[in-house]
Amino acid sequence: MRIELRVCKHCLEGDHGASQQKSELLQDMVACAERIEEYKDVLDLDAVHIRRVRDDEPGKPEALPVVAATIQNDQIVLNDTQLVAEGQDGNMLLYANLDDILTVLAGNLDEINKAVHEDVTVELSEPGAKIISNADLGANVER
Ligand SMILES: [Zn+2]
Repeated sequence: MRIELRVCKHCLEGDHGASQQKSELLQDMVACAERIEEYKDVLDLDAVHIRRVRDDEPGKPEALPVVAATIQNDQIVLNDTQLVAEGQDGNMLLYANLDDILTVLAGNLDEINKAVHEDVTVELSEPGAKIISNADLGANVER
């Protein structure tokens, strides 16, 4: 199983006119994904890819060849934020909603937390922590 997180590098760094909330959520996602990568063996993941897409390059995925798109003003626009998870059955699960992406990543971290002795929790931003506590997937953000 593999997962690939795709984020806009510019929004991640707070450029691009992104709201501060979006930047913080993207930073939370990357922090979670990096931590998951460290412990990927615990979840039996083969790879965790983090793709930071820049404006001046073709936004090709790193490993999992799926990109979500939306139509804006009659134009096809590739989503700049998504999470693709390859399931055991070979299905690709595509998450394009920011809340969903963070919830899935935090859920994975929670699984790791249950399996290892050390604390792997990531310090989330305020909007990120709010999403996770609302999701109630058992993720513990208070530690
Ligand atoms: Zn952006």
